[in-house]
Amino acid sequence: MPFRVGFGHDVHRLVPGRRLILGGVEIPHEKGLLAHSDGDVLIHALCDALLGAANLRDIGVQFPDTSTEFKDISSLILLERTVTLLQEQGYLVGNADLTLCLQRPKVRDHIPEMAEKLAVAMKIDTGRVSVKATTHEKLGFVGKEKGVLAYAVVLIYRQL
Ligand code: MG
Repeated sequence: MPFRVGFGHDVHRLVPGRRLILGGVEIPHEKGLLAHSDGDVLIHALCDALLGAANLRDIGVQFPDTSTEFKDISSLILLERTVTLLQEQGYLVGNADLTLCLQRPKVRDHIPEMAEKLAVAMKIDTGRVSVKATTHEKLGFVGKEKGVLAYAVVLIYRQL
């Protein structure tokens, strides 16, 4: 089967004293995402979608948060490694469609840069990476600014 799809989902808690990094872009804000890595929830969802599409388990299995190797690591590096894992199985990335859910700050102006960074890390054209953002209308943990949520859907293919 030349085509496979994958779905990814991730959540991180918003806390003071951390940088806010989303899609590989640092966004000025009074809080950031708590994590062993840089907490880039959008990239984590994307990595999980890619790994899922190739049936390579998940980001926690591939890059354990107990490893000092991955402490505060840029998630762009995790994404590059994920794509390498897929390539080793003969898969290339077709496209990715991502949704970021956060109440604040507004990220609209940063989205083209996020798409560019993700495309470079995956070695594909920027036009194959869609990044969308939405609030949760002040409802729930996203709406109360306690955390940020991300979803990712990808298509991967085997070169014939
Ligand atoms: Mg995560």
